[in-house]
Amino acid sequence: MFRFHSFSFRNRRGHWMRLSLLLLAGLLLAPAFAYANDNPQEPALPELKVIVDTSEVPELKEWGDNASKLIREWHPKIAEMLQQEGFTPPQEIRVVFKKDMEGVAHTIGNQIVIAGNWVKQHPEDNGMVIHELVHAIQAYPRGGPFWLVEGIADYIRFYQYEPKTRLRGIDPERQSYRDGYRTSAQFVAWLEKTHPGIVQKINEAIRKNEYQNVMIRETTGKSVEQLWGEFVTTEDARGRR
Ligand SMILES: [Zn+2]
Repeated sequence: MFRFHSFSFRNRRGHWMRLSLLLLAGLLLAPAFAYANDNPQEPALPELKVIVDTSEVPELKEWGDNASKLIREWHPKIAEMLQQEGFTPPQEIRVVFKKDMEGVAHTIGNQIVIAGNWVKQHPEDNGMVIHELVHAIQAYPRGGPFWLVEGIADYIRFYQYEPKTRLRGIDPERQSYRDGYRTSAQFVAWLEKTHPGIVQKINEAIRKNEYQNVMIRETTGKSVEQLWGEFVTTEDARGRR
């Protein structure tokens, strides 16, 4: 930048020549770039469709609209974290709010079902939507390893979406990597930190219905139990304040 300026002061004509050459090159190359962007090898995915149904709990309409925005923002991010060759995540996500449902939420296929009462009592719980959206994008066959299915969903929620939320430290006497949810999420986060790319590898295996714990030994040289034993002694297992 600086060198270009000092040059133009000494030779104004040269400066204009350079500028017009640049402009000309830009005009000639622009169509080539436009063409290159629309790569015929990789057709663009159909636009994401998010359908929110608050008919049973109309007072949650605004909350539902916000959830829809959150899904639009995070769907591509999660799809990238859990990407795999030849796999297309669901391009339609349905969110249904239930009036008389107990518990929090669950996901069946591409449909997220949320308990209206939970949202009324915990309106700040947007992270739950992210957790459920992960399940829709995981699109795992039935019978996947519970601790990883739930661990990965909470890993993405607590380490990507809300990396500042407090997390309790692990008590190895009472907790196990098999617990799922936050406990497994903390272990999964440490696994990914110490063996980058392992989450994508595990995800792919679960999708193909081929996951077994031995896969972790093949990837890391250590069994899951050994790794868990190591993890609980680290600073990462002390939780987050
Ligand atoms: Zn879950």
